[in-house]
Amino acid sequence: MTTAGIIIAAILCYVLYSALKNGVFMRCPHCGKIGSWRYDKIGESEDEKDEDDVIIKSTQQLRCRSCQKKVTEIWSDFDGRKFLKNDENTDLLKATA
Ligand SMILES: [Zn+2]
Repeated sequence: MTTAGIIIAAILCYVLYSALKNGVFMRCPHCGKIGSWRYDKIGESEDEKDEDDVIIKSTQQLRCRSCQKKVTEIWSDFDGRKFLKNDENTDLLKATA
């Protein structure tokens, strides 16, 4: 393998790794379809900031395009990104991740 090939392979690994880390391939907790591009945002995200005005937690309501059900996306500096299932019957959030 050439040096250029090794560099390209390393960049690809890095891109894939950061995509995984950022939840690009997360599953819908309702229908199990993968991909963060499948969701439409509902309203504005609610951000929590620390004293330095840095966002430490962000909550966003989403709707899955496949099954039309609601999902709550929570990103935090500590935990990374996760999807919570909005239970249609009780309207309580259930952790699935
Ligand atoms: Zn879905």
